Amino acid sequence: MVYKIAVFAGDGIGPEVIGEAIAALQVVEKTFNCPLSFEYALAGGCSIDTYGVALTDSALRLAKESDAVLLGAVGGPKWDDPKASVRPEQAILALRKELGLFANLRPVRVNPHLLNASTLKPEVLEGVDVVVVRELTGGVYYGRPSERRIGAAGREAVDTIFYTEGEVARLMRTSFELARKRRKKVTSVDKANILATSRLWREVAHEVAAEYPDVQYEDVLVDAMAMHLIRRPRDFDVIAAENMFGDILTDEASMLAGSMGLLPSASLGEGRRGLYEPIHGTAPDIAGQDKANPLATILSAALMLRLSFGQDQAAHAIEQAVDAVLADGYRTADIAQPGCRLVGCKEMGRLVRDRLEQH
Ligand code: NAD
Repeated sequence: MVYKIAVFAGDGIGPEVIGEAIAALQVVEKTFNCPLSFEYALAGGCSIDTYGVALTDSALRLAKESDAVLLGAVGGPKWDDPKASVRPEQAILALRKELGLFANLRPVRVNPHLLNASTLKPEVLEGVDVVVVRELTGGVYYGRPSERRIGAAGREAVDTIFYTEGEVARLMRTSFELARKRRKKVTSVDKANILATSRLWREVAHEVAAEYPDVQYEDVLVDAMAMHLIRRPRDFDVIAAENMFGDILTDEASMLAGSMGLLPSASLGEGRRGLYEPIHGTAPDIAGQDKANPLATILSAALMLRLSFGQDQAAHAIEQAVDAVLADGYRTADIAQPGCRLVGCKEMGRLVRDRLEQH
């Protein structure tokens, strides 16, 4: 079986980091006898420049006909006009919606060699290994009404949080299934003391939890969670949260690892097809300078091998290769420490491939 990958490199540093991830996958192809095919299309600002839209119908079709999507990042100052009707991020929103990708997984593992890269104390960070599972296609980002208007008291605005029990249940099931393959603990985040949607969330979460008696379960209010996450991050395994809470907590969690350039993500739906991308954006400040850290994208490719293709060994080999390069002291500028061996994007990619080839 040949796994078909739709590749959207996107804008800014997207093509640089995607290039290194694909080169790593090409080594995996040979080493693990895991045939892959790559098909390329435009998404984001580059697509707007070429076709006038952030994602063409044929690019979307390519994604739908593939086993997985690998994405760099989209956007940049050139397309930043808030009044523009065509915007780069429409490509990502369309891909998520059309592929039914309702769960965004962001693993945060603090690498022992990078304990000093974070602003938090090493003793708090040692051994941290969490995955935030964020609901991606519901909640306040999609609820209607969402508008600005003129009311009796002048300018006013409204947004709406809306969830169905089915949306909550599928997100919780994804979280419990994931926890079963890890340390068997789910922490569900809500604001059930205030919000009706959170009370539904908690009710449904408890019903799903009853189906997984082997997995430890707890509810935590979102404000308390923001605190616990930096005070005792080691205590958490899988953290499940609705869209906006998850959005905020995933960024907070990313800082445990020290740099966005290290963190991969997966967006999943009901089937095995997923969209894999680094959590960072297009980094216009360093684009085209060979300074980007490609590890987040290389690790996203590892997640793709594991979650969409079931190639656990190959995924593990990539993760080990990344660990080995970091253990040898190689660092891109975003994670550089005194005395490290400073390398660029291309060199970092080559070092990972070298370790993979030795596997
Ligand atoms: P950003 O993530 O692009 O950059 C934030 C900071 O982190 C910058 O200083 C950048 O140099 C650094 N950084 C990010 N990734 C890095 C890497 N791999 N290696 C080294 N350093 C890295 O966020 P931003 O500056 O807020 O956004 C820039 C553009 O990216 C905007 O147009 C935004 O809309 C877009 N964006 C896209 C996505 C996406 O495509 N999923 C996500 C976030 C932001």
